[in-house]
Amino acid sequence: MVDGLHDLNAFLSAVNERTAVIWICNPNNPTGNLIPSEELIEFLSKVPENILVVLDEAYFEYVTDPHHTDSIRLLDQFPNILVLRTFSKAYGLAAFRLGYAIGSPQLLQN
Ligand SMILES: *Cc1c(COP(=O)(O)O)cnc(C)c1O
Repeated sequence: MVDGLHDLNAFLSAVNERTAVIWICNPNNPTGNLIPSEELIEFLSKVPENILVVLDEAYFEYVTDPHHTDSIRLLDQFPNILVLRTFSKAYGLAAFRLGYAIGSPQLLQN
């Protein structure tokens, strides 16, 4: 991490034939940093399609940046992403551990 931000270029250079999953907390916990949508899209377009990119968006409901692209809108373009969200933070239901995953049909049918 650099200044509380994921270093996406470092992630890309660390990818090799053994890489199966890249896990990104966005917004990040505990720093709260949000990856700008253009940066995330550029990153996703460079990640090989056979690698699963998990977008852990536990703090999604706290994003106030009007330019932020909802990652669900990226599913068509990048079927290898899995979006994780939870009721823990926005609804104060941490004790329930109730969350959900949103992915492309291609991914979820596997
Ligand atoms: C709180 C949190 C979780 C856990 O969510 P649960 O639904 O309570 O399991 C996962 N990821 C991040 C980044 C969190 O902040």
